Amino acid sequence: MDCLISSQYELERFMSTCIDSSVTLTIYPLKERIDISEFTNRLKRVEVVGNQECLCHYNDVLYLHDICQENGISFSFLSTGKYFEKDGIEYIIKVVDQERQALKANLNIDWYDIDLFKRIEKSKFRSSFHLKKKDIEYIEKKGMDTIQRHAYDFVHQRLSPSFIPNDGKQTPMKGHPVFIAQHATACCCRGCLYKWHGIEENRELSKKEEDYIVSILIKWINNELERKS
Ligand SMILES: [Zn+2]
Repeated sequence: MDCLISSQYELERFMSTCIDSSVTLTIYPLKERIDISEFTNRLKRVEVVGNQECLCHYNDVLYLHDICQENGISFSFLSTGKYFEKDGIEYIIKVVDQERQALKANLNIDWYDIDLFKRIEKSKFRSSFHLKKKDIEYIEKKGMDTIQRHAYDFVHQRLSPSFIPNDGKQTPMKGHPVFIAQHATACCCRGCLYKWHGIEENRELSKKEEDYIVSILIKWINNELERKS
């Protein structure tokens, strides 16, 4: 469900009548500081777009970005609009530069990267991982619910902590189908999670990020099972 708003009042009015739990919120323009904290569990993506009339404050954009960052919501700052203020200085930005300047703020976050599976296909290293007969038999014996529970355990214990002394070496190359899936999808260590998924290092993972990683692992395993059947 898409929602277009420009003020706190409009946001609250929309969310009070909407029952959808994966809303893409477009704020056009960002007229005032908008607090989305109350709705984070129902937002999938937030986009900020400036227009040619309202002054857009960098701190208000950053405020939204930070809430998205903490809650695993994708965020895009698509355009500054004509009037943009940062550090107390008001800039007038030409139409041709408004998108580029927004991109330069470097605030975009993409959690649910639909291109991930296309990208891993292109990587010789990632695409070399496959489930072996033994792994498939193990999955069949245990059932997918158990495999998913194992995936949560591995992610929580080996990837979630803010500091991992052996990062890059915490995921074995064999011994469990989830380990194989982790290497295949670049969910093997925090370095790879940052490079491939944009999830920052040196901080604890949120529950939403753990959910995201497990969903990718299970999706990859299901793809493998389909391929082999
Ligand atoms: Zn890695």
